[in-house]
Amino acid sequence: MMHESKPCAYCSGNGYVYVVLGGSETCYCCKGTGVEQQKVEAVTK
Ligand SMILES: [Zn+2]
Repeated sequence: MMHESKPCAYCSGNGYVYVVLGGSETCYCCKGTGVEQQKVEAVTK
């Protein structure tokens, strides 16, 4: 049983993405974890 943790493809595992407006913002895809979410769970931070 292995939990496969892949880097988020959207932010390349950074946990944040650069926005056009300038600066960076927490990746909504992985919610800043940098890990691709396999399941959609009610994980609220
Ligand atoms: Zn991400």
